[in-house]
Amino acid sequence: MSQIDITIHGVDAPAKQIPATAQRRTWGRQQAMKKGWYWLLATWGLAAATIFIPIVHFVSVPALLLAGPLVGFLIYKLHLGAVDIVTKDAICPACTQPLALEIAEAAWPLAAKCPRCGAALSITSVPQRK
Ligand SMILES: [Zn+2]
Repeated sequence: MSQIDITIHGVDAPAKQIPATAQRRTWGRQQAMKKGWYWLLATWGLAAATIFIPIVHFVSVPALLLAGPLVGFLIYKLHLGAVDIVTKDAICPACTQPLALEIAEAAWPLAAKCPRCGAALSITSVPQRK
């Protein structure tokens, strides 16, 4: 895990910027495997649930049973080695409440939403000071 400095600001009010720190968390094999198994079992659970729907179950049950391992494997491959940004001491610029975010690192600036007030947020990384 490496620590990075970030700046959080609301999309509606870009002038109000909140500095914070975050950590980069890389998905390991075990975590990715757990996520893959979760989706495999969720797909099979859905197959079991659709057994009771007349006519639909002729298609849904075999399709979901076959799709389960594929979905699980794709989720595993998608998460293996992926990087999440986990905020540590962040505060929402809109509602000033503590902000705990875990978002996949994609192209900066990262887009997020405050879970408390729903404000659209933009997160930029601050170049490391030497
Ligand atoms: Zn908020």
